[in-house]
Amino acid sequence: MNNTGRTSILLIYTGGTIGMTKGGPEGTLKPFNFDQIFEKVPEIKQFAVDIQVYTFDPLIDSSDVEPGMWQKLACIIRDNYNSYDGFVVLHGTDTMAYSASAVSFMLDNLDKPVIFTGSQLPVGVPRTDGKENLISAIEIASAKTPEGRSLVPEVCVYFNSLLMRGNRCVKINSEEFNAFSSPNYPALAQAGINIRYNRDAIMKPTGGPFTVHTDLDTRVSILKVHPGITKEVVRHILCGQESRAVIIETFGSGNAPSKDWFIDIVAEAAAMGKILVNVTQCLSGTVDMSIYATGISLQKAGVINGYDSTTESCLGKLFYLMGKTGDNERVKTLMSQNLKGEITTF
Ligand code: ASP
Repeated sequence: MNNTGRTSILLIYTGGTIGMTKGGPEGTLKPFNFDQIFEKVPEIKQFAVDIQVYTFDPLIDSSDVEPGMWQKLACIIRDNYNSYDGFVVLHGTDTMAYSASAVSFMLDNLDKPVIFTGSQLPVGVPRTDGKENLISAIEIASAKTPEGRSLVPEVCVYFNSLLMRGNRCVKINSEEFNAFSSPNYPALAQAGINIRYNRDAIMKPTGGPFTVHTDLDTRVSILKVHPGITKEVVRHILCGQESRAVIIETFGSGNAPSKDWFIDIVAEAAAMGKILVNVTQCLSGTVDMSIYATGISLQKAGVINGYDSTTESCLGKLFYLMGKTGDNERVKTLMSQNLKGEITTF
């Protein structure tokens, strides 16, 4: 709440379709001056909420997002944390799930909402989905409990009527308005005539001091196994000097080729001290390395269970944990633990 006693929201525009308009070279979209957002979406003036706008310079098409952008975003939130009740981050959809995941780990003891949203069509286009996404994201970021605390004190993605935990969502559609899904965790809210909150699913504030972690170690590779994958490719990705960790995207419940050469290379990488994390290529469901012999071999070779985490969340979590400690054993232990609601452990 600001000194007028009204709820205050910081709207951070990072780039992406929502703030674009027609008229770029060769028929492409170009960004409009985002300070005009109140003219483009006059509805947001009807909220009894003070909204300030922070625009990234330069704007970033989210395909160009780098960890430095997450660091910048986390610092903006840190520097403005005490002045605002909530934050709405407008972001391109392409890598929104990566950014929301990474930022969820970088912000510790968050007790205010950080709601990512964007759109498939620019706000100036008649059939845009951007207006509804923006308006509802602001409403959610301003929502309070009867005691005056934030209703959704976590990093989320709001898109096409659904509020999802940021580190649980994935982009699933490149052309329809339902661009995001949270396959392994229920929606935190659904917007219809009213916004219905799923209070049991929303994280409770942890109570410690709000802290921002900006040290990220990005030495992570991703190995997606597939029929016909070769020894050379597997060795290059798993044993290359460049990586400290490798996310192995496996089949089904965590299975990979059972050939000796595959397991031997995995064991070799583990013996080099690499952090190897198993996540499934399936959109939903979890890794369970105890069901099939190939899963057991991976486990014996030193692969960590990433359970039902998305690849996007696994990547952000590794960057964050490896930035925090040089101790790979500690990172391995924490990778299998639920830190920010990103995995379901039974
Ligand atoms: N390429 C755009 C981006 O991700 C697409 C979008 O905003 O949806 O920045």
